[in-house]
Amino acid sequence: SRSGMPSRHVTARVAPLGSRLVLALVEDRTRERRVEAVRRDFVANVSHELKTPVGAIRLLAEAVGDAADDPEAVKRFAGRMLTESDRLSRLVQQVIELSRLQGDDPLEAPMPVSLDDVIAVAVDTSAIDADSKRIQVVTGGVHGLEVYGSQEQVTAAVANLVANAVSYSGNDSTVLVTAKADERTVEISVVDQGIGIPETEMDRIFERFYRVDPARHRSTGGTGLGLSIVKHVAATHGGDVRVWSVEGQGSTFTLTLPRHLSSTFNQEALL
Ligand code: ADP
Repeated sequence: SRSGMPSRHVTARVAPLGSRLVLALVEDRTRERRVEAVRRDFVANVSHELKTPVGAIRLLAEAVGDAADDPEAVKRFAGRMLTESDRLSRLVQQVIELSRLQGDDPLEAPMPVSLDDVIAVAVDTSAIDADSKRIQVVTGGVHGLEVYGSQEQVTAAVANLVANAVSYSGNDSTVLVTAKADERTVEISVVDQGIGIPETEMDRIFERFYRVDPARHRSTGGTGLGLSIVKHVAATHGGDVRVWSVEGQGSTFTLTLPRHLSSTFNQEALL
C-alpha cells in the first residue's frame, strides 16, 4: 500500500523542494530590498534635482525685486526665471512619467499602435527646437507598421530620442527617424550628426539623472531622465534600446519593440 512506502523516499523528495522554496523566498526578500533601495535613491535624487531650479528661481525673484529701476536687468532675470521654470516643469513631468512606469501595472491595456502616428507626434514635439537650429528632421523607412503596447509610452520614448537628437546636434544638421521590421519586432532608429557620446559614457547615459559633462550642455536644460524613460518603456514592452556613437560625429539610438503581444515583459532588467 502507499502508506507502506519507505519514509526515506519521502524525505528525499521533500528536501530539495523545501530548500528550493527557501531559496526562492530569500531571493524574493533580496529583490524586495533592492527595489526599496532603488526607490529611496530615486526620491533622494529627485529632491536634490528639484532644489536646484527652485533655488535659482528664488534668487532670480530676489534679484528682480532689487533691480526694479533697471528695466534691462529685470528683463534678463525674468528670461532666466522662465528658463528655470521650464526646466522645473519638464523635470516634474518626467518624474511623474517614470514613477508611472515603475508602478505595479506599467503596461495597462496594451493594443496595436500605429508607428506612423507615433513618429509624427514625436517629430512634431521637437519641431520648434529643430526649426530654431535649422535642423531638418527627416522620416523614412517602412510605413504602416504597428507595435503592440501603450501608445502614450511608445510616443514618449520616441519623442525623447528625437528631442535628444535635436538637443545634442549643431545648427543646420539632419536628424533621421526610420522604422523597419522583421517578423516579430519593429526597430525605430534615430540618427543624428551631433556631438556624439564618449565610449566610456555609453553604459551610464541610461541611468536616472546621468548626464555626460553637465556643465558643457547646461544650456540644453536637460534633466537626465529622458533615456531612463526610454529604457523603462522598452523594458515594459519586452523590447530594448541600444546606442552607437562616434564622438564628434553623431549617434544612433535604436529602440526595438514587439509587433505582437509579448510575454517577455522585463521588469527585472530595470534594477
Ligand atoms: P538629458 O535630459 O540630459 O538629455 P537623457 O537621459 O535624455 O537626459 O540623456 C542623458 C545624457 O546622454 C545626456 O545628458 C547627454 O549627455 C547624452 N545624450 C543623450 N542623447 C544624446 C545624443 N543624441 N547625442 C549626444 N549625447 C546624447
